[in-house]
Amino acid sequence: MCDVKEIKNYINGVFVEPKSGKFIESLCPATGLINAKVPSSETSDVDDAVQSAKQAFYGWSNTSPQDRCNIMRRIADILESRLDEFAQLESQDQGKPVTLATSVDIPRAIYNFRFFASVILHETDDCTHLTNPTNALNYVHRMPVGVAGLISPWNLPLYLLTWKIAPAIAFGNTCVAKPSEFTSVTAWKLCEVFTQAELPPGVVNIVFGDGPTAGEAIVKHKDVSVISFTGSTAVGHHISEVVAPLCKPVSLELGGKNAALVFGDANLDDCVQCCVRSSFANQGEICLCTSRIYVDSTIYEEFVAKFVQRTKLLKVGDPDDKSTNVGALISKQHWEKVKHYINIARDDGGKIECGDGVEQLRLPQRVKGGFFIQPTVVTGVDDSSRCVQDEIFGPVVCIMPFNTEEEAVKRSNAVKYGLCATVWTSDLARAHRVSKKLEAGTVWVNCWMVRDLNMPFGGMKQSGIGRESAKHSAEFFTEAKTVCIKY
Ligand code: NAD
Repeated sequence: MCDVKEIKNYINGVFVEPKSGKFIESLCPATGLINAKVPSSETSDVDDAVQSAKQAFYGWSNTSPQDRCNIMRRIADILESRLDEFAQLESQDQGKPVTLATSVDIPRAIYNFRFFASVILHETDDCTHLTNPTNALNYVHRMPVGVAGLISPWNLPLYLLTWKIAPAIAFGNTCVAKPSEFTSVTAWKLCEVFTQAELPPGVVNIVFGDGPTAGEAIVKHKDVSVISFTGSTAVGHHISEVVAPLCKPVSLELGGKNAALVFGDANLDDCVQCCVRSSFANQGEICLCTSRIYVDSTIYEEFVAKFVQRTKLLKVGDPDDKSTNVGALISKQHWEKVKHYINIARDDGGKIECGDGVEQLRLPQRVKGGFFIQPTVVTGVDDSSRCVQDEIFGPVVCIMPFNTEEEAVKRSNAVKYGLCATVWTSDLARAHRVSKKLEAGTVWVNCWMVRDLNMPFGGMKQSGIGRESAKHSAEFFTEAKTVCIKY
């Protein structure tokens, strides 16, 4: 049984109720019971948060990188000392197995602060020397943009929120952040850590509430200089339209429909093991999850058999149970959406090799009211099926055979998204050739989700605009100014 958390906004270093006095009930996905009461913030709450961030900006932007680094390292250390508590809260709020939150979500949130804390100690900038007819020294000064608006989704709540907060404040900005209304608990708890780490009041302000009200008020606010958004392509489109007349830089990390390309010379056991993980980790609710697998027709039957066999070993159930591999989907509404897509696969002539509707789901009593779906493997669908084209964002993967390398690349690229892809081969030349042709922001060869935060992360086509990394986030959260000194 979860105790109901009464969340408050964090403005100017203080926890405050939303002015409306209204709250949104957020459910525990594994039980269907109320987990948290999330402030239903409105424009006036966002105004207060932006005002606080504006006031804190002068002081914070004038601190030295070393001072900012020290505070961010303190945040990381405190978070680390509370890792198990945060992992438990994340699992209750999001539905993911507690083991995943303990090994991935919270460690990465900690690392986000440590990473950017160190990035700012090692920054250098370009300079040029002009001679004849004028002697001049040019150098680049990067100045923080001011108040950053940061909006994040529900699938990796603290991981993705801190991936925005850490660079924003590292480069000397202050911010107003809004996590998803479905998963606000760890963001709220993080505010305690900010206070404990003596982050000056107003540097980070967190306003909770839904997207069209609280989120949009941040996007539209005249004193918010940039918007960093991670979420769906549909909302990304809308935000683009809202910011266009405001001349406001926006970074959009959006949806995906990621392909795996499995060639005949791949190490099949390694490939199957990793592709099962990349398809079903976090219930398939990671933007980087594999949802289409194209397999060389010479090994197709063997691949499907091994893949299905391994998928059936995944244990769906109570996220609290350390032996659980697949937890609950975020909400009833999302559960219905995923079910709907499995029905589309059936209607389009697909065969459900395992998962939903094939095996009976047996759940422990405690989680009988939760939003669970077994990992579902679909074969026999055509590339034109909506099941192959649309982002389902759940534990569903389609496997399809191909005959030539060219065909595999062409079909992988034939969706509107371009976030990531994986390539499975032992032929190095092919790995380079195929990676070069794939329309995806990240291509992993013989692996998945191996991340070096120095490398650009982001999507092509409808998967987003902009990149995040040490360098790219520095560019996004600062303005480059050329200073020219004649001598
Ligand atoms: P969503 O777009 O519904 O919501 C994301 C955030 O935007 C939430 O905080 C929401 O409250 C807010 N929002 C909604 N409407 C808004 C508006 N009009 N103005 C401002 N903010 C608004 O996405 P979601 O359902 O929370 O997350 C799932 C989606 O996120 C999937 O499509 C997934 O692929 C994508 N995602 C992408 C990445 C990436 O790095 N590319 C990472 C994680 C998730």
